[in-house]
Amino acid sequence: MEICKKILCAGCGACAEICPKQCIVMKADIEGFLKPVIDEQLCIKCKKCISICPSNQTHTERNRDYQTKAYSYIHPDKNLLGKSTSGGAFTALAEWIINKGGCVFGAVYDGEFYVKEVMAETMDELAAMRGSKYVECDIADSFKKAKKALEDKRYVLYTGSPCQVAGLYATLGDADCSKLYTTELLCHGVPSTKLFQKYIEYLKEKYGEILSYSFRDKKKWSWGCWGCFQYKKGNDIKRKNFVVASDYYYSLFFKENCFKESCYDCKYASLPRLADITIGDYWEIEKEKPYSEIKDGVSLILCNNQHGEELLQTLGERLEIADIECLKNQNLTIIQGTHRPDSRNEFYKDFERYGFLDTAKKYVKIRRVIPIVARYLPQNLKNIIKKIRKH
Ligand SMILES: Cc1cc2nc3c(=O)[nH]c(=O)nc-3n(C[C@H](O)[C@H](O)[C@H](O)COP(=O)(O)OP(=O)(O)OC[C@H]3O[C@@H](n4cnc5c(N)ncnc54)[C@H](O)[C@@H]3O)c2cc1C
Repeated sequence: MEICKKILCAGCGACAEICPKQCIVMKADIEGFLKPVIDEQLCIKCKKCISICPSNQTHTERNRDYQTKAYSYIHPDKNLLGKSTSGGAFTALAEWIINKGGCVFGAVYDGEFYVKEVMAETMDELAAMRGSKYVECDIADSFKKAKKALEDKRYVLYTGSPCQVAGLYATLGDADCSKLYTTELLCHGVPSTKLFQKYIEYLKEKYGEILSYSFRDKKKWSWGCWGCFQYKKGNDIKRKNFVVASDYYYSLFFKENCFKESCYDCKYASLPRLADITIGDYWEIEKEKPYSEIKDGVSLILCNNQHGEELLQTLGERLEIADIECLKNQNLTIIQGTHRPDSRNEFYKDFERYGFLDTAKKYVKIRRVIPIVARYLPQNLKNIIKKIRKH
């Protein structure tokens, strides 16, 4: 039995969660993406999985009657802002929920750099959720736990990719959702866990044991697309900074030919958005604010319904109104998904045949680069540089 078209399956796991016979398990396919596998012996053909699968729904009716509002946000705590990917919107929303005795769901690395969705009930437990992990996230038992928390009348903040949030809604049935808030990322696609794991193995061979890994480190060069990992060399702990162009995995991520097939047909990358709130990077804010104010990161926030407004008002006056029309041009992920490159056809076949390094070398060239934080330069300095270049 086919639950949904294979290329449309987002691996959200709603089918496995809803199955009354528990005869569906999520397993990695040959490319390393999670897909449902049905035990046909146990299956009673009730077709619940097919009817709730978000990939089989034409489009979300949620938020259709609400005019999306846009904001910028910067977390007031410098330390927490420094550890957040953008402006720390996730932390600010999560803090309110935790203070209310609620629980927050977000993505963490387990000890082996496997990314999965877990529940946090304390401020300390939020720490591992901070930081974007540019790889598929396993929802694990998070839908079950979120439903239980709602039954216990607790506040719940569920954060994740839009397809994960769609999966959550699909499994909630007639649960009371008045205390549930959902926050989706402006996600433009995810590579497979297998690809990321093989990359970590490659790093281990090259550098030694990898102790921590961040795609978006702000310590060395402030806010931008650069990261850092820590590794053990003898008794020493060393840090290695990298930028997109100097790193194989990061370059592949931005080449966009290693994403899950459903990412190229993402129906959630459009307005109106699915979740109560959408968060992302407020790129190009340097056109509006001076460098000193924005260098540690700025969040872009979309409010998608009245319920989201209730949670957002807890952020107070640091929430600044933004122009949604401008943002649509500045951050295309708001309104459109990622184009599927032709090289996607061969990418995972090559990965299977030749392994991580040889495949990466075939598709991307890397070089040692020091980032010039061009977008932070004041406009007058940018104009001077442009003039010099012309001469
Ligand atoms: C795969 C991916 C693609 C993205 N693409 C874009 C983009 O094209 N444009 C854009 O503006 N922003 C994008 N983002 C969002 C951006 O990177 C930040 O995550 C977002 O701005 C939140 O920043 P913050 O400072 O509020 O959160 P932080 O404090 O850094 O928290 C990170 C949040 O992301 C969640 N998260 C991290 N990794 C994953 C994952 N793999 N799956 C599900 N949830 C995860 C955590 O649970 C937490 O809620 C993407 C994020 C991911 C994970």
